[in-house]
Amino acid sequence: MNIGIVGLGLIGGSLALDLRHQHTIFGVSRRPETCEQAIARQIVDHASPDLALMAKADVVFLCTPLGAIESTVTQLLPHFSSSTILTDVGSVKGSVVRAIAPHWQNFVGGHPMAGTAESGLDAALTGLFVNRPYVLTPIDSTPAKAVETVAELARSLQAQVYHCSPEAHDRAVAWISHLPVMVSASLIATCLSESSAEVLALAQSIASSGFRDTSRVGGGNPELGRMMAEYNQDELVRSLHAYRHQLDQVITQIEQSDWNSVQQLLTQTQTARPQFLSDSEKE
Ligand code: NAP
Repeated sequence: MNIGIVGLGLIGGSLALDLRHQHTIFGVSRRPETCEQAIARQIVDHASPDLALMAKADVVFLCTPLGAIESTVTQLLPHFSSSTILTDVGSVKGSVVRAIAPHWQNFVGGHPMAGTAESGLDAALTGLFVNRPYVLTPIDSTPAKAVETVAELARSLQAQVYHCSPEAHDRAVAWISHLPVMVSASLIATCLSESSAEVLALAQSIASSGFRDTSRVGGGNPELGRMMAEYNQDELVRSLHAYRHQLDQVITQIEQSDWNSVQQLLTQTQTARPQFLSDSEKE
């Protein structure tokens, strides 16, 4: 198949690296240097900043930042034949599907749930999607053939394919991805608010695995975190309010020296955590 990838960054570059074993890859990226680098490093077969290159593709993966998806699609569609399948990799699905589906029937919303704290083509990795969830969010009007084609490509990356509605996706990722980013960022910001320079320096010196684990996602790509908040605003706000309610309960329990309730909470969460992390790869 001829595979098109628009946006040669972490996700687009990683898709290209793995799909190139079985397909011919056509890449489009904003900067000519990125296109040249992608060809020189044999990440893609052909590359150009010109979206007209996508006329050759049977399936196009849209891998730009979320904020560029809608405008890119408007410029992209005139280059498609009626059979071209379009999919995206955006971390939010409701707003993306609402923006694209009315204009292109052969569109399948997608979200490969893999990444690193890095961005750009230099961050692209082989095998990034192995054993990771790849969520597809077809709607009633999405042709089954288009869904199956994208699912088959995702399975060829050794990803685990899930299907759900765009709304269920956005609500679920608010809990397990977008809320953790804001909680983790807030944790770092709160530590930095320590008023004693001496205590702050000591805390930084002795910070170890616990702080490394809980602060990791708050130390990631700021543009990506901002896009999650901007494009999944309602679900993120809902989850943040629920989190604040939970924090208020813990504060009250600790203020009141209600140690049994504190222990009960920690016992419940100790039992529940493995269900969220059923294999070590999900770490
Ligand atoms: P990224 O590393 O910043 O890559 C995006 C690349 O797209 C940039 O390097 C840029 O390359 C290019 N680009 C920017 N605007 C463009 C435009 N208008 N037209 C064409 N190319 C453009 O970002 P990413 O992490 O791969 O994220 C891309 C998408 O994947 C986002 O929608 C995000 O929600 C989703 N996603 C991210 C992760 C993650 O953990 N990072 C996980 C799952 C899904 P040049 O400027 O160099 O040309």
